[in-house]
Amino acid sequence: MRVGRAEFVVSAAGAAQFPRDGLPEVAFAGRSNVGKSSLLNRLVGQKGLAITSKTPGRTRLVNFFRIDGRIYFVDLPGYGYAAAPKSLRETWGELVEGYLRARGELRGVVFLLDIRREPTDRDLEMRGLLEEAGLPWIPVLTKADKVGRSERPKLIHRIAKGLALPDPRQTIPFSATTGEGSRELWAAIAERVRAPDPRPARS
Ligand code: GDP
Repeated sequence: MRVGRAEFVVSAAGAAQFPRDGLPEVAFAGRSNVGKSSLLNRLVGQKGLAITSKTPGRTRLVNFFRIDGRIYFVDLPGYGYAAAPKSLRETWGELVEGYLRARGELRGVVFLLDIRREPTDRDLEMRGLLEEAGLPWIPVLTKADKVGRSERPKLIHRIAKGLALPDPRQTIPFSATTGEGSRELWAAIAERVRAPDPRPARS
């Protein structure tokens, strides 16, 4: 899919600042440094787009990007990097958890994991939260260009097992460097947005 216009709309510090135009939303979540900004930039074909989410003071906020006036991509703060073994709740506070649990416009979450790493405890916490919130999620394995083709199946299996996915083929290997996986991810996002609201009672 080609994107005509992707625009940064707001860095929200609370629900009062979330957009009110009712467009469907797809959120992006993952560990800090997993490749979230690179993926967003590649998906929309705009190099500097997600740089906004990295500017000081915005890294803990919920950043909304309007895509072709039709949907919002919502960049959630990265969690659990390196020596900071904090729970999701400690990293995020109530803002992000509340967003995931209660936002009526939210149709699904793109959940990013580094293809080379086993899911961390924080990733598993994230998965638990998505399930609890009743949100469909799309597991995307980033930095796929960093591993050889022959190594891949083993790594994908390991992650699928860690996340208790019924089928490893549910994951989408992705590379911001080569563009691999872009088409598949766009298709999965489009399907999520077209599908009936998974949590109709909340909207
Ligand atoms: P974020 O903190 O999750 O937003 O991660 P970034 O997008 O800033 O990426 C973190 C680091 O990983 C940067 O040095 C990127 O250049 C690198 N990176 C991200 N995606 C890829 C990828 O698909 N392939 C390779 N080789 N490097 C990547």
